[in-house]
Amino acid sequence: MKKYVICFLLCCLCGCQNPPSNFEQWMKPNGQLKVVSTTAIIDDLVAQIGGEKIDHLALIQGAMDPHSYELVKGDDEKLLFAGIIFYNGLGLEHGASLCYQLKKHPKAVALGETIWEQNPSAILIERGQVDPHIWLDVSLWALAIDPITQALGESDPENREYYQERAKEVKDRLFALDASIAKKLRGIPQEKRHLVTSHDAFNYFARRYLGEGDLSWKTRFCAPEGLAPDGQLSYHDIQMVVDYLDKHGVEVMFSEANVSRDSLKKIFSVCTEKKRKVKIAKTPLYSDTLGDSTYQEMMEHNANTLYTAWIN
Ligand SMILES: [Zn+2]
Repeated sequence: MKKYVICFLLCCLCGCQNPPSNFEQWMKPNGQLKVVSTTAIIDDLVAQIGGEKIDHLALIQGAMDPHSYELVKGDDEKLLFAGIIFYNGLGLEHGASLCYQLKKHPKAVALGETIWEQNPSAILIERGQVDPHIWLDVSLWALAIDPITQALGESDPENREYYQERAKEVKDRLFALDASIAKKLRGIPQEKRHLVTSHDAFNYFARRYLGEGDLSWKTRFCAPEGLAPDGQLSYHDIQMVVDYLDKHGVEVMFSEANVSRDSLKKIFSVCTEKKRKVKIAKTPLYSDTLGDSTYQEMMEHNANTLYTAWIN
């Protein structure tokens, strides 16, 4: 314990990067279980289950891209001090420095891998790569509740029943959210339900909420960038999306809050040259980040944004 306090004091004394305001509070030894989650999306779920019995924080905050995140000053201390780390896995956190720390921590739980082991058919492989965006299907994300509850209970057996009780309530909330999103989006005529975004984040979303009837869910979603946004587009990537827009009569594309709009702008330019009418929606979707929202608010925002754009 002593070495972590010293690390923290040194960090403050040297005037290096300001830690977030809740970081100082989180570092105070107070008998509470200290939990770090890599993303705000995971932290939101962990907080709902852990309630007042844990001190929690998200490592990757704001609009930072979780795919390529590398550790910054202060992150080492957070990871060392954590009693448990929850991360998405399935290749999401592939920044080398973060990957290294996750692999060597004695209590780092990969939620995606746990779900995959228990439900092999639930995880998608796209273009030979595992798709990590499991949180965009609420029913799939609900499968992360049990491994989180189990890990909290093992590290803090005194409060195991507390975590289990809260986990039941969280499941009920997520099942209700899942049903309301499905109902809303199935209210859109099938011919309108074709989603175009910047990067390949919405495969699980499309499978759960957009597919129905004669078309497979795979025809419901198209993006020029791969599973991790990189902005390096080939002629083939752009042409693929332009062909998709033509084939399905798509009139609106959606940017993502944490991803550059450059790739969509390139597609827009090509369409304009061809005198093909398409627009980029003013309101972005959330794919890999929460913004200032909770997970529930983020998913409702996505569903409402699509509904409003598609129903008009
Ligand atoms: Zn992503």
